[in-house]
Amino acid sequence: MVQDKVIYADYSASTPPHPEVIRTMSEVMEQIYANPSSIHEFGGQAEQLVKRARGVIADALKVSPTEVLFTSGATESNNMAVLGAVRASRYSKKPAHAIVSAIEHASVYACYEQLKREGVEVTVLPVDSNGCVRPEDVEQALLPETIIVSIMHVNNEMGAIQPLEQIGTLIKQHPKAVFHVDGVQGLGKLDVDLERWNTRLFSLSGHKIRGPKGIGVLIRRGRVPLEPLLYGGSQEQGLRAGTLNVPGIVALAKAIRMAVEGQADNKNKLEQLKQKLIGYVSDIPELVLNSPADAHGAPHIVNVSFPGMKSEVAVHALEERGVIASTQSACSSKLHKPSRVLLAMTKNDRLASSGLRISLDAEMSMDDIDRIGQALHGAVSQLRPLVQLER
Ligand code: PMP
Repeated sequence: MVQDKVIYADYSASTPPHPEVIRTMSEVMEQIYANPSSIHEFGGQAEQLVKRARGVIADALKVSPTEVLFTSGATESNNMAVLGAVRASRYSKKPAHAIVSAIEHASVYACYEQLKREGVEVTVLPVDSNGCVRPEDVEQALLPETIIVSIMHVNNEMGAIQPLEQIGTLIKQHPKAVFHVDGVQGLGKLDVDLERWNTRLFSLSGHKIRGPKGIGVLIRRGRVPLEPLLYGGSQEQGLRAGTLNVPGIVALAKAIRMAVEGQADNKNKLEQLKQKLIGYVSDIPELVLNSPADAHGAPHIVNVSFPGMKSEVAVHALEERGVIASTQSACSSKLHKPSRVLLAMTKNDRLASSGLRISLDAEMSMDDIDRIGQALHGAVSQLRPLVQLER
């Protein structure tokens, strides 16, 4: 029984592009199709658009335009940051060490697994019961040969906000170590301050902030040495070969500017929506809230478990009631394994196998939250006998 109005609550997986983003993108596709590297006038026009977009992004993030590198999305930005920084350091043949949190997105975490196969010593940091990395663990893990530390801003599955300023201050005492932050889930909801965080590599993705898919940036501050992932043309200072995605870049600049300008408002609205949703969750005794309920939690992600019930069954029961949510990160949701992130946070296999992520957008209404609350009640009533049977 699919109801008329479907409530989309999977904004951490992807967002609908903003109408202005769609308009800008289609205008550029129609009118400015030349290659920005071409030396003729048409190429020059495309190059000017890219230059302007780079400037807009640099202003929004308070960096210099030369520190903005365009990529195909945050997966590439993260690969370029982690693999690029470590591989660039290895020409010296000295031992290399790298630090990652246990709750990073797969596009960061899998790079560290690859680094291990390449002979790099990797330290994986645990998180506390709020899902946060402890700064003292970072301090202990840092070695003279540490090349990079990757800690995300906001976790994409359960929303924990990481103590980046404290961690960045510790990393600063190790001038060889670079602080990489996956900023995908924080921008537009929380304040971003790369200088205060001492962050030198910072990844963003267009489609999480109402921009287009297939476009992202890697902010590279202070000319951190990077070995490219792609070889070919000399685009992006020789660090990322390939013809620039001009429509995507212009649209991304618009999405980033709107996200930063709307951040304070978005945060307030989301906070109210989230509190109401948490109210519904606490009315249902079977549900366990995994997301930090206090200031450690981002305003747009609510992760709950229905212990004993597989995540995907709960997601489908909600979908039958017209609510679109997700199990874990969309990139990992088809693996049907307990969530690595929830396992690291809760140390509980039952909770990690039954996580349900509801992620919100500031344009949702309180009525939408009521619908989600009713769907949760309905889904739990339907599934309760199955869980009891399992016991
Ligand atoms: N990092 C985080 C925290 C994410 O949530 C995602 C998207 N699931 C990514 C990286 C990957 O971004 P993209 O889809 O642009 O490759």
